[in-house]
Amino acid sequence: MAGHQVDGTIIVGAGQAGLAAAFALRARGLECQVLEAAGAPGESWRKRWDSLRLFTPAQYCSLPGMAFPAPRGSFPGKGQVADYLAEYAAQLPVTTGVSVTGIAPCPGHRNGAAFTLDTTAGEFTARDVVIATGATSAPFVPAVAGGLSAAIHQLHSSSYRNPAQLPDGGVLVAGAGTSGVEIAIELARDREVWLAGRIPFHIPDAVLEHAPGAYWQFISKVLTRRTPLGRKAARDFTAQGGPLISVSLADAERAGVTHLPRLEAVDDGGRPVFASCPPLDVSTVIWATGYQPDYGWLRALPGGGPPVDARGWPVTVRGEVPAIPGLYFVGLPFQYGLTSTLLGGVGRDGDHIAGRIAAAARQRFAATTSAS
Ligand SMILES: Cc1cc2nc3c(=O)[nH]c(=O)nc-3n(C[C@H](O)[C@H](O)[C@H](O)COP(=O)(O)OP(=O)(O)OC[C@H]3O[C@@H](n4cnc5c(N)ncnc54)[C@H](O)[C@@H]3O)c2cc1C
Repeated sequence: MAGHQVDGTIIVGAGQAGLAAAFALRARGLECQVLEAAGAPGESWRKRWDSLRLFTPAQYCSLPGMAFPAPRGSFPGKGQVADYLAEYAAQLPVTTGVSVTGIAPCPGHRNGAAFTLDTTAGEFTARDVVIATGATSAPFVPAVAGGLSAAIHQLHSSSYRNPAQLPDGGVLVAGAGTSGVEIAIELARDREVWLAGRIPFHIPDAVLEHAPGAYWQFISKVLTRRTPLGRKAARDFTAQGGPLISVSLADAERAGVTHLPRLEAVDDGGRPVFASCPPLDVSTVIWATGYQPDYGWLRALPGGGPPVDARGWPVTVRGEVPAIPGLYFVGLPFQYGLTSTLLGGVGRDGDHIAGRIAAAARQRFAATTSAS
């Protein structure tokens, strides 16, 4: 099959990160093509649970060049986000239904391309590649799940949609981050619910309600890899996950949820056990235990792919991989700051990466003209 040559950059993934990168490249007059595995841009939002509302107010959810269409102070639903991303993508060169399955160096830099991409629509070549496949593509479920009785229905929070999809009976939500707490509160309306896990720091609601601007300035300008406080927050974020936003343990307890420590063991009958109470007879366990990196498809790159940290996330310099020139990331957790994975923060990283791609192109051009 003949290959597809893209003059410029291929961006893998048309979520907010890939779209922000494409917008910034186009704003600089640079060619790019976004390849998206799903049938529409922003699909990852549609797949999340039905009642999900953003924890960031609408005025901090805009991508560069297009304001989020919702009143200030409102918290849009997930469908509004997906619609907004689809509209944003309409101005950009996005091809949907194409999954990238591998990336390798392009032999002999054919036609100036540095990379060859294997995809479900054949081979593509490109000078630069931006990986924007998101931080939530591979759900993480701890090993203790394997010991649970086969009679207990198990699912990850990424597969949770609404209470009606679950069998009758009590539910244990394992993992007490924002997703776990929100799901536990929803389920507690008509069944018994336990929430297991360490409760992260809770951002006081008053801060979000009365000083959202100051809060946004703090998380976007202070909590970055440039500041000592930001670097500490990055370490905590990687080790323990993000803070609780818009919901708290008190909210969950008011809704009737019982809080327990981390789930670490099951009894002989495969029931969850905790030191503080008898084994739980639940019909369902929901793992709200976060996500793990999923970059095996980059292993044909030099060095087996980018270097990774202790948890397997690519280690980059603000999204660049010095050992693999031309390979970039956007949308990694704490890539530059706390807001790197947020709608209102990813534009800054996309713009930075586009600036670096433009600078490298200028250098190549200068080298070619001075050699001729
Ligand atoms: C429950 C939940 C609530 C959140 N709430 C908020 C909030 O209130 N405010 C906020 O700002 N942020 C929020 N976020 C964080 C963040 O905004 C989202 O996770 C967002 O989806 C990240 O965007 P992304 O573009 O990095 O990744 P994604 O949205 O996951 O997009 C990545 C895209 O890449 C595609 N892809 C993956 N692999 C390939 C491949 N090999 N080939 C081609 N395409 C591929 C996927 O199909 C997907 O469309 C929330 C996240 C979660 C999980």
